[in-house]
Amino acid sequence: MTLEIRKLGDLLLRERSREVEEVDQEIKDLIEAMGETLHGVTGRVGLAALQVGVLKRLFVYDIGHGVRSIINPTILDSEGAKECEEGCLSVPGVFVSLPRYDRVRMRCTTLSGHNIVIEAQGLLAQVFQHECDHLDGVLIIDRCDEEERRRALEEYQELELQREQSSA
Ligand code: ZN
Repeated sequence: MTLEIRKLGDLLLRERSREVEEVDQEIKDLIEAMGETLHGVTGRVGLAALQVGVLKRLFVYDIGHGVRSIINPTILDSEGAKECEEGCLSVPGVFVSLPRYDRVRMRCTTLSGHNIVIEAQGLLAQVFQHECDHLDGVLIIDRCDEEERRRALEEYQELELQREQSSA
């Protein structure tokens, strides 16, 4: 089952997601559907639950080794500030340059309900920061500078008009 991905302008994307209290069957089913949804789109790397309309603190990602899920993440430390190019499934077709850290240490819960700490670097660290932002209602256009934000929004509006007209 694939789910509809919420796009920029949808106010739900600006809300703060709530902690998952128990990793029950409902959560497992949601994660499975999110994994299928992620695999159904091109340029996919990660997908947070609120992007499919569920305000729970969890996300799935795939950086080439299959779908993994992360529940109730908290970034504990980060280091190595750098500039990244980043896109988002909720802002399709647009990439912005924004600051991220090269390494992060993140506490989270696994699908089997264990609490673990993961250390990540490079692309994986970037994905974790991007998805954790989603859980607090933060999007890539909030992380870049004003000029980059204006350019990205213009580009996005133009693309949306094109998509609208080609589907009419
Ligand atoms: Zn995103």
